[in-house]
Amino acid sequence: MDTTLIIEAAYFLAALLFIYGLKRMASPVTARSGIIVAGWGMVIAVAVAFLYGLDVNEKAQPHVWVNLVLVIIALAIGTGWAWISGKKVAMTDMPQMVALYNGMGGGAAAAIAAIELFSGNAQSHGVVVTILAVLGGLIGAVALSGSLIAWAKLDGRINKTVRLPGQQAINAVLFFLALATGAAITTAGVSGEVSITLVAVFFILSLVLGVMLTNPIGGADMPVVISLYNAFTGLAVAFEGFVLQNPAMIIAGTVVGSAGTLLTLMMAKAMNRPVSNVIFSQFGETGDGDDSEIEGSMKAAEASDAAIAMYYANKVIIVPGYGLAVAQAQHKLYEFVKLLQKQGVDVRFAIHPVAGRMPGHMNVLLAEAGVPYDIIFDLEDINEDFAQADVAIVLGANDVVNPAARTKKSSPIYGMPILNVDMAQTAYVVKRGQGKGYSGVENELFYADNTSMVYGDAQKVMAQMIEAVKSLG
Ligand code: NDP
Repeated sequence: MDTTLIIEAAYFLAALLFIYGLKRMASPVTARSGIIVAGWGMVIAVAVAFLYGLDVNEKAQPHVWVNLVLVIIALAIGTGWAWISGKKVAMTDMPQMVALYNGMGGGAAAAIAAIELFSGNAQSHGVVVTILAVLGGLIGAVALSGSLIAWAKLDGRINKTVRLPGQQAINAVLFFLALATGAAITTAGVSGEVSITLVAVFFILSLVLGVMLTNPIGGADMPVVISLYNAFTGLAVAFEGFVLQNPAMIIAGTVVGSAGTLLTLMMAKAMNRPVSNVIFSQFGETGDGDDSEIEGSMKAAEASDAAIAMYYANKVIIVPGYGLAVAQAQHKLYEFVKLLQKQGVDVRFAIHPVAGRMPGHMNVLLAEAGVPYDIIFDLEDINEDFAQADVAIVLGANDVVNPAARTKKSSPIYGMPILNVDMAQTAYVVKRGQGKGYSGVENELFYADNTSMVYGDAQKVMAQMIEAVKSLG
């Protein structure tokens, strides 16, 4: 049987599975199966790569078996590591993990570029493919080092944001130097030999550029940066797919590249900030907030008061945020919701697009607790209804419910769409203390006349609320 035909058919199938899997990821109901479908696509693509290797090397290059053994060892290490770390990772550490894996993808694309450029394979396919190899190498290396810095910042391993004087100029110089070295590699390849020094300098410049681009960006913006580097990785993989003439890489890379770009734009829109503002500004560092006086004062309430108010309400809207994930209070929360529902209370969840630390964070958290999807609503589908809610309760959320985003032009979060908790008849906010949110901005909602603060860890507070409601019935 013709191996080429099998390879082509398998790549086509893998590509179909990637696209179908991605489509299923559009809804929380089908997302889990979408991941599995796309995963099978990846298994097929990897398995076929073996066949491809054997086919090409049939003309008996003795090192092919050595290479295959090395590939199997690499696969075993990679799969084992990913399996164990994937099983162990805490929900709140997910963005770090995405950053790390994304960096690996960029690094793999850059490694392919390095080999193909140095061996002269890329050049043998002509100038256009050589340029794609160079660009893919540059973007992949930036995604690798940039994602590693993003991972370290999110994981608290780098706490300092280093901004050099003339940072943008330094970055521009680095970028042009990398491009110039890339151009030199391209022309050297066309005319014959490529020196390893030139290739090494090119990659060092690209890696340093990734570090320099990411270092000055504040920790609060890291999720957006990771999504951007995800798009970079996709693009780099697609470019290297052209170099290796591998359709699965081209398709998977393009899908990842466009999905990453869309996600970046959606996150930026949900924060009402252009992507350029994320990359070039200093927002997200503490001290950036507008600390002008807020009228009123915070009023404390007991967990039982809030629970009883909800028990006797008709309509309750719950707003989850990052604090709910930190406290791992989702199971207790749903237990409480079921008690309210039993009493006939209409309970719904309102999800802000950037609640938590990555898009979909809250949906996954609630799904983990078994909350049915039909009581979970996106911002645009529920925001009008806050005015009719008897009680709105905020659990470990802050920035996404700050009315200053609607009213205070001087606030750094001005213009960000927010959930209208302040419009509910009564609002409760559960948080541990008077600390500010991720953006470092003071929250006007907490000082409003109709808002009461329930201080404490969200899980403990939920346990108290369950007790209070149980004692009533
Ligand atoms: P925030 O980080 O603004 O606020 C979370 C609140 O939870 C804090 O004020 C904290 O207050 C409280 N908290 C922390 N731990 C606990 C606990 N154990 N129990 C109870 N409360 C707790 O979260 P939001 O979800 O409201 O906002 C998300 C932020 O992340 C936004 O600023 C957004 O722009 C940013 N962001 C999100 C992205 C995304 O894709 N999701 C992407 C980029 C940025 P206290 O310390 O007093 O307890």
